[in-house]
Amino acid sequence: MFQRNDHGLDQAGGTATMSFGRAIVPAAELSPLDRVRIFIARTDWAPDLGAQIGSPTWWRGAATCAALCALGYALSPGFNRTVIGDVPAPLSGQQWEEARAQSIGPLAWGGNTGQHMAATDLVAPLSEAPERPRVELVATLGQGDGIANVLQRAGVSKTDTDSAVRMISGAIALGEVKPGTRLDVTLGRRPDKTVARPLEALTFRARFDLALSLARAGNGLTLARHEIAIDRTPLRLEGLVGQSLYRSARASGASPKIVESFIKALAAHINIGRDVGPAATFTLTMAQERAATGEVRFGDLLFAGVTQGNRKTQLVKWDDGQWYEASGQTEHKGMMGMPVAGHITSGFGMRMHPLLGFMRMHKGMDIGAPWGTPIHAAMDGVVQFAGRSAGYGNFVKLASAGGIGTGYGHMSRIAVRGGQHVSQGEVIGYVGSTGMSTGPHLHWEVWKNGISVNPRNMSFSSVSQLSGDALRQFKAKVAWLLSIKPGAH
Ligand SMILES: [Zn+2]
Repeated sequence: MFQRNDHGLDQAGGTATMSFGRAIVPAAELSPLDRVRIFIARTDWAPDLGAQIGSPTWWRGAATCAALCALGYALSPGFNRTVIGDVPAPLSGQQWEEARAQSIGPLAWGGNTGQHMAATDLVAPLSEAPERPRVELVATLGQGDGIANVLQRAGVSKTDTDSAVRMISGAIALGEVKPGTRLDVTLGRRPDKTVARPLEALTFRARFDLALSLARAGNGLTLARHEIAIDRTPLRLEGLVGQSLYRSARASGASPKIVESFIKALAAHINIGRDVGPAATFTLTMAQERAATGEVRFGDLLFAGVTQGNRKTQLVKWDDGQWYEASGQTEHKGMMGMPVAGHITSGFGMRMHPLLGFMRMHKGMDIGAPWGTPIHAAMDGVVQFAGRSAGYGNFVKLASAGGIGTGYGHMSRIAVRGGQHVSQGEVIGYVGSTGMSTGPHLHWEVWKNGISVNPRNMSFSSVSQLSGDALRQFKAKVAWLLSIKPGAH
């Protein structure tokens, strides 16, 4: 075996005496001082005292800790010993009075020296404090509040309030002004203290894209509208999924609400736990409004995407509020799912009974499927009955919300127990031919408030597809959403 060392020389690995240019000295030639150095360097002086309690390392660690504590105590001055030092002599006489006059204390004591702060005879008392010529204040519109109330609380007179509100309501519906809006109010000089100050100016953001300002001109008020330009380019955020899709999406800057709808949209179309690995990338695009004045407002999620290798999931929210795949296809989650993947061999209604040989009401649906095919709960529910039931053979009955019950007969094996909660799609048993049956099939019954109904009349999960103009518009929207450059905020 040969190794290449720093000097570029090949040496036999087994007998190497050089390493990084430093000589390795045989142990016998070490001086006692070197041995101590090596011992100090090799020893872990602060082992974890919570681990391996009682081992030699632990005892050594405990001894080190105790020794350090003792050393600390030995070097400390002790708890009751005085610290030796100089205390300056207290100020007295003139020095004390002058120092006191410059401190804050004398304000409370009445400034008894008067040397630096007391009023002289040149100062004459006023009969009343003068008023500020203008008062500038910020008032906030509360929940369920009106602009008129806000102005009156700010001290605007009834007349001014009325005319201000009349002018504002001419420019915008008063209900459009959001609670929390700040109104900058400027009040002017008044002739005397018995009357309200006149409203000099009022400025506020009436809408995200509109600011209004009122200003006094002569005796009346004038209103000015300031339209604010809004950029409505959606915001696209991208990132690596990593350990947690939720956390990575949050870290990209999306709000919890957006991330929640992002995950909800994806979860309805793919199995996130199975199909989205740490190496996958996610894309989420949300509505965004950026005002020319700098404010940014975020809207709903518009696009949700995950790319794992060459498998892409791209979901776009369409005008009907549904999430469609970029192809224009979506799955409608109906109330029920089909319990078994199979073909319907006999529907609901009057029929000639195959075993009894006479006309009889068939109160369910027969689905033919091979022996042992799993049977899934059609709806979330509680197992009301699970066991042998005469003609039904091995039978399971589920009670679900809305007075709906579902029954599953002729099972070869039951996979649930009475009282158990099952969710839609969960396996509750397997296809068989127990009870009054001619071959492996599922007899499926649905009750609404105790009365048998045709399962066909229930709403099932289904896939639907946009078409025509809607599909063209949808595709244009997808292309637009995909063309947005990723941004950060
Ligand atoms: Zn049947």
